[in-house]
Amino acid sequence: GALSAEIDRLVRDVEGFPKAGVTFKDITPLLDDHAAFTAVVQALADAGRDAEGRVVVDKVVGMEARGFILAAPVALALGVGFVPVRKPGKLPHETRSVSYELEYGQETLEMHLDALDEGDRVLVVDDVLATGGTAAATVSLVEQGGGTVAGLAVLMELGFLPGRETVGALPLTVLHTV
Ligand code: 5GP
Repeated sequence: GALSAEIDRLVRDVEGFPKAGVTFKDITPLLDDHAAFTAVVQALADAGRDAEGRVVVDKVVGMEARGFILAAPVALALGVGFVPVRKPGKLPHETRSVSYELEYGQETLEMHLDALDEGDRVLVVDDVLATGGTAAATVSLVEQGGGTVAGLAVLMELGFLPGRETVGALPLTVLHTV
């Protein structure tokens, strides 16, 4: 559709970032375009509404760091709270952690113990779904925190990676696939 084409136009490939052999999808030109940024936030927020437009989530969870940029305005658009998921040692209060395997080594994500109320329905928002490790770890943090994941919404899916399989059966909203 038109939004997918806009995302394609405004996300640029950066070769060799953050290391040789990797092509990084740089979303900063899209963020710099008010109309496109607005359309993206609205489309991601729709993942937190039912067919009649009613908001069906209690919280939006976003992952450091680019996830924050999208998830916070999505939370405001839906009229619900925002919960940050961060790298180790960044959140000031008591946290729970989930670790997951990367291609080389391990990554850990944390969420505050009191961030969610029991039974909260959560929309998880991030910029890019690649291997799915980040999203799966976030789903685990939400579930351990007493929440249920109503959906995962991402700006872009790297379709040549198995992120979709990694996150499993949860409702997935993807605005653009490469
Ligand atoms: P995954 O855990 O699915 O392999 O990687 C997704 C996470 O890494 C997301 O939080 C995303 O921000 C980041 N990421 C991985 N590759 C890219 C990329 O090419 N561009 C951007 N913007 N983020 C990426």
